[in-house]
Amino acid sequence: MIDDAIRVLAGDCTVIAEGDDRQEYRGRVTTIVKPDNTVLVHDIDGYQPVAWLTRADSVSSDRRDGFTLVAKKDTQTLRLAAHDQDGFAHYPSSAAGTPVGTCPDCGGALVRSSGVHCVGCGDRYGVPADATIRDDQCDCDCGLPKMRVERGLAFNVCLDRNCESLDAAVREAFDREWSCPEPNCDGDLRILRRGGLIAGCEHYPDCDTGFAVPAGVVDGECGCGLPTFETASGIRCLDATCERALEGTVTAESAADD
Ligand SMILES: [Zn+2]
Ligand SMILES: [Zn+2]
Ligand SMILES: [Zn+2]
Ligand SMILES: [Zn+2]
Repeated sequence: MIDDAIRVLAGDCTVIAEGDDRQEYRGRVTTIVKPDNTVLVHDIDGYQPVAWLTRADSVSSDRRDGFTLVAKKDTQTLRLAAHDQDGFAHYPSSAAGTPVGTCPDCGGALVRSSGVHCVGCGDRYGVPADATIRDDQCDCDCGLPKMRVERGLAFNVCLDRNCESLDAAVREAFDREWSCPEPNCDGDLRILRRGGLIAGCEHYPDCDTGFAVPAGVVDGECGCGLPTFETASGIRCLDATCERALEGTVTAESAADD
């Protein structure tokens, strides 16, 4: 289940914000306390809070006598005391993101923020930052949407790595596909996960050659012998430091013209 909650306090309050100077407000306001301890005190005017403290180190509240709330961060303090309380509540909450499909487990909305999560049951799926998820793509047999990720080829795999593994698909396509470019090394490049996916020499640790697999599609061969990738920012060699990528592209293009 979703364990993050937004707390809401409403009423006629005195609000005192102390830092370099001291501000005191009185009004019928609504205060929102987010799970990261950000405190926002809203009055009726405009979109901006009348007082706030972002990511406070501590937030304590006391409801014995009306309610009071104290948020502290470094030298700043935000105090709130209710003279007349209109409401106090906790609401379950999640990150909001672009809708990308429907949860096969609970029927809730799947949304993408940093990863993908279900607004209904809270299930989470990590996705690469460059992955695209569209609800018009075919769903996996498990019912989850598929994501499209470019790692040498465009792969369409299930959002759930335990259902269908991107790593396995990339390995299947490119493991031992390229040779280690070191002059005195006869190794093949293996597809491995080291944080991200890398193509690394099989003779590690004797040879420490390794390259992050770029987010793009292989479109030719570089002058250095490694593949070139067409990426969002242009053509590049598997080796990000290689300057011969364009050389390779020119060769590939003239070959296509023949
Ligand atoms: Zn769900
Ligand atoms: Zn699946
Ligand atoms: Zn090597
Ligand atoms: Zn190169």
